[in-house]
Amino acid sequence: MGLFKAFQQLKAVGKAANEAASARPGTTAAKAPRQQGFLNAMVNVMAQAMAPRIEVIAADRGGPLPGSDPAVVDGSAWAGELRDSVAALTARDAAFDPATLTSFADQVFTAQVAVWTGASAATIRPVMADSLWEPLAAATGTGTELPMANVLRLLRGTATLTGLHVGAWYESALMTFRVDVEGGPSAIGPDVPQGMTEWGEEWLFQRSRQSGGDPMAHPEQCPSCGAPTDVDEADRCAHCHQAVPYLTTGWLICHVVSHNPLQAHQHDQMVQYLRDNPDALRNIPPSALGMLPPDIQAEIARGGPQPTTR
Ligand SMILES: [Zn+2]
Repeated sequence: MGLFKAFQQLKAVGKAANEAASARPGTTAAKAPRQQGFLNAMVNVMAQAMAPRIEVIAADRGGPLPGSDPAVVDGSAWAGELRDSVAALTARDAAFDPATLTSFADQVFTAQVAVWTGASAATIRPVMADSLWEPLAAATGTGTELPMANVLRLLRGTATLTGLHVGAWYESALMTFRVDVEGGPSAIGPDVPQGMTEWGEEWLFQRSRQSGGDPMAHPEQCPSCGAPTDVDEADRCAHCHQAVPYLTTGWLICHVVSHNPLQAHQHDQMVQYLRDNPDALRNIPPSALGMLPPDIQAEIARGGPQPTTR
């Protein structure tokens, strides 16, 4: 079966699985309540268009803006002394204050949690790069909750500035967050394993050295060759093929890497479920394939589930 056809069948599969999950006591489903709960959750997620919703809370989302210094992309920019880069940035912008930026980061975290749990995505638009905001806007405001909304609304984040880089086009700040769950493990419920209520996240904030955008837009001319801006899907100039950077109105959150053990646990559960239930492989939306382990992606590429010998 082709992937597109499989994707079209998503809702039908969701319905069948929901019926299975609500089966009478004594059935297989009832004998494995935890698995049933997970099946329910996964099917609900899939039936609500899995890809954009998972993208919104993915462990690695967004990325450095086009035209970022290589040292920001590969992370080597964060190895230097923080005080030196604070001095370099302050020399350019006397108003720069690390404490103010850190407090801003905390506010952005709070705003993100609010959008996850019901606030309009428009509230966070001015401080969020397109690559993060577009899936967020697509997945929220639909009247249905994100997966794990009961946990998401309890999240608290505390930022520490751990890296700063003054680059050719952008200033970049790495904020390391300590995230925890208000109320601790008991606030989340019995399905969440112990030890999964505190983790770290790294957030990359960037702003262009020359302000513009609203919140981000290409300059009118390519900075590399001077031609009127005309970019491909990878933000490369049609004339000189160099990355065309963005002008931003201010600091934007561009890249989030989360070490959330809850997400890792859910991911592992989903992988195990797919291995145990190969028929479900047919129903993974194409846009979500990249999140699956390579062996499962290869299985789908071969045309769907193969007979198992377990
Ligand atoms: Zn160019």
